Amino acid sequence: MPIRRLPPEAVNRIAAGEVIERPAAAAKELVENSLDAGAREVRVAADAGGLTLLSVADDGQGMGADDLALSVERHATSKLAPDAGGGLDLLNIHTLGFRGEALPSIGAVARLRLVTRTPHGPALGLAVKAGEVEGPAPVAWDGFASHGTRVEVADLFYATPARLKFMKSARAEAQAITDVIRRLAMARAEVGFRLDLDGRSALRLDAQSGEGGQLARLSALMGRDFRDNALPIRAERDGVRVSGFAGLPTLNRGQASHQFLFVNGRPVRDRLLTGVVRAAYQDFLASDRHPMLALFIELEPEAVDVNVHPAKTEVRFRDPAGVRGLMIGALRHALAGAGHRASTTVALGALGAVRPEGAPGGLSGGQGASLPWGAGGSGGGWGSPAPRTAGALAMAEAGIGLFTAEAMASAAVAVAPQASEPEAIAGDLPLGLARGQVHGTYIIAQTTDGMVIVDQHAAHERLVYERMKAALAQGGVPRQPLLIPEVIELPEDEADRVLSRADELAAFGLELEGFGRGAVLVRGVPTLLPRLDLKGLLQDLADEIAELGAGLALKERLDAVLGDMACRASVRAGRRLTAEEMNALLRQMEATPHAGQCNHGRPTYVELKLADIERLFGRR
Ligand code: ADP
Ligand code: MG
Repeated sequence: MPIRRLPPEAVNRIAAGEVIERPAAAAKELVENSLDAGAREVRVAADAGGLTLLSVADDGQGMGADDLALSVERHATSKLAPDAGGGLDLLNIHTLGFRGEALPSIGAVARLRLVTRTPHGPALGLAVKAGEVEGPAPVAWDGFASHGTRVEVADLFYATPARLKFMKSARAEAQAITDVIRRLAMARAEVGFRLDLDGRSALRLDAQSGEGGQLARLSALMGRDFRDNALPIRAERDGVRVSGFAGLPTLNRGQASHQFLFVNGRPVRDRLLTGVVRAAYQDFLASDRHPMLALFIELEPEAVDVNVHPAKTEVRFRDPAGVRGLMIGALRHALAGAGHRASTTVALGALGAVRPEGAPGGLSGGQGASLPWGAGGSGGGWGSPAPRTAGALAMAEAGIGLFTAEAMASAAVAVAPQASEPEAIAGDLPLGLARGQVHGTYIIAQTTDGMVIVDQHAAHERLVYERMKAALAQGGVPRQPLLIPEVIELPEDEADRVLSRADELAAFGLELEGFGRGAVLVRGVPTLLPRLDLKGLLQDLADEIAELGAGLALKERLDAVLGDMACRASVRAGRRLTAEEMNALLRQMEATPHAGQCNHGRPTYVELKLADIERLFGRR
């Protein structure tokens, strides 16, 4: 076959295949155009998931007749201006659009109609049907503002029936459109958004202004819990700025779908974020739980390439490692500052569950008194994780061996004789004095103005974890040889996997040797963890190593390895504790950073303020 030039309609249809792969993509392009036109409000309506009708109206600058005619032509854009030498700089892009493809692509696969008006000109209309352009021509103005543009897309893909067949249900398309609008709305808090689906209001977002505007917008879209449990993120280095909000680890989800990244105001999907979140939260969350966050990166346009994909949802950083490091650092810093703050959802949820129906005075977040460590405010926590009492200090210095004689002795300083007034002594102790253990699992402690319920397994797990981490940072976990080495039987592949990493595991205090097919000989264990459940641990590690693959060192999964060890070494629920042991645990929690949650993101304790308890009983 000879080579032929394709006619423009075919070219546009091919481009449409990439740029407008589904109604949500059209919605995204049109809303981006509105934002580029300086809109303060954008109104979107979609019927049947955008397949029959999609309309985007704005109060932006509008277009004059010449621009309107050009707007539907291929590769025509107002967003890339030649420099003095006539060159176009694709690496200096300040707008969401720049490819000049969206309107012609839509025009090639749908019936397209534009109505537009500049602040000083007449209202003009233009239509494209199957590639045929009609207009521009004067029309009556019916926009919601004095000027702006409305783009209507009817019967999307009617011109490409093959594509139409691939569309998911109208419902799924409507959901995808909603997602697109939500992401753009997160990026631009100062713009108001409306979305109507099949004539029903799906989103109403007022324009936000000022300091709290961004968080207000995010909480409107991610939920009130997010607002109450978000830590502000702020960091800057080498001209790269990261800002936004990150949820406390205890506010976690089963999916990573509540994690958002914006680069220079553009919502992007980048695997970078997944790695960043994992690295920053690794100490606080099980690998199958995901925090909620929205991060905004601002940098010189030259330092990021947005022209990676026609849909412009991917970016390439000039210095990805630098950006990554900055983000991880900013998140870690915020999380460390949050100290002992656990998410408000925990205590509020718990209280909601026990409050008798119709009890006077709701336990709503406004009160805030029921929540661990000043939740709701910024920072929160004990300021620094420094221990407050002589007892706690001694404990921290003793450092190791919870429930050792040494630890018991120093804890005794803080133990209250049952007969005395505990309030006086509890005064200095954020987690109060232990008053008893219930169901062999929970420690009840009395504080000056309330009570604390501690999950002993979760709390101990956290303490062990932090201690192991500190030991590792100081050059390795001390190892204690077993008098009688233990033989652990495992499935052969698991045994092989664990043994292949024996050298690395030695740094964690585990001394392992092969012992024939499917058996591992354990010769030494971490001194800190004399009572490990070895079989369970080796199985966990085998899983971890399988997930890790061959390329990475175990240290890359420090969190997981230590987490496994802490979990397999912890005081199990069900074990009876003496008063000394309980108080020792409380004091060590006070002295340990991040003690507010276990490394799976569950809270280690919940505090109930007296005021809330009184409210439960209708005393207030
Ligand atoms: P791009 O956004 O990449 O420039 P488009 O095909 O999306 O390409 O739009 C072409 C041009 O039409 C834009 O450069 C802009 O000048 C104009 N335009 C599109 N939508 C609007 C709008 N809502 N308000 C004002 N001008 C618009
Ligand atoms: Mg565009």
